[in-house]
Amino acid sequence: MENLIRQAAADLAAAKYPIALTGAGISTESGIPDFRGPSGVWTKDPAAERRAYQSYHRFIANPRRFWEEALDRPGSLGDLSKAEPNAGHRALAALENMDVLKCVITQNIDNLHRRAGSRHLLEYHGNFTLLRCLACGARYERDEAVLRQLQAAGKLPPTCRECGEALKSDVVSFNEPIPADVAARSEAEANRCDLMLICGTSAAVYPFASLPHSARRRPDVKIIEINAEPTPLTRGHISDFLLQGKTGEILPRIVAVVNELRGQRR
Ligand code: NAD
Repeated sequence: MENLIRQAAADLAAAKYPIALTGAGISTESGIPDFRGPSGVWTKDPAAERRAYQSYHRFIANPRRFWEEALDRPGSLGDLSKAEPNAGHRALAALENMDVLKCVITQNIDNLHRRAGSRHLLEYHGNFTLLRCLACGARYERDEAVLRQLQAAGKLPPTCRECGEALKSDVVSFNEPIPADVAARSEAEANRCDLMLICGTSAAVYPFASLPHSARRRPDVKIIEINAEPTPLTRGHISDFLLQGKTGEILPRIVAVVNELRGQRR
């Protein structure tokens, strides 16, 4: 493992435009379960996965009823507002501050990269602290008190100040298209990078999982995975190598070696 950590750090230090992709695995050490890991929400409760697949159609069919149900049901990932960023999130923010990492593209909706200090961040599946208008794309802070007032007054769903359409959570549901702005910027980053560090994702959810394939079209791009277990990217030789273990332990060790290498260059 030490050799692979040194290799990853040397590759990062040498890269001109390295980016990171992250998934639910980077937040498990903050107490948020993933979906498909050994203790994942859906691994334990496959019916929850089937319900999740219907959520977008329920919103389109009846936004008011969707919001009434959503406000009365606890989220499947628990109370995300109580989770804190962990050493993995902080390590990626540190790499950006060191002007090594250029961008983080996350599937996570938990706001933890932002809170850890990542600034050039693309939230591919949205952010649970925001609401989004499906018609015009405007985004708003999600205010629980306002939502409860609308519910009490029988005035759900919340509506867009720009165009008057019903607002949905910014979190992208299954079967919902990825917001066009984020999808285009993510694809551009994947096509521009010369190193992709993929952290804590099963790489099973498309179109996000197509980003490493887009990068792999250029044979000189380095693709490095950090994950608790091998993934389709490992098995399909899309990644060059896998650092198998916890992102919260491996990423800080990579940052330490990058710092060491930069110190030697001065
Ligand atoms: P996933 O659940 O499909 O896979 C997570 C992967 O991370 C698994 O391979 C697992 O073995 C690995 N893993 C778990 N803990 C790890 C750790 N500490 N270090 C390294 N690897 C670890 O997750 P996904 O690929 O992100 O896809 C799930 C979808 O659900 C995404 O679309 C995401 O939007 C959503 N989701 C988000 C959150 C969140 O915001 N925190 C949590 C669960 C699911």
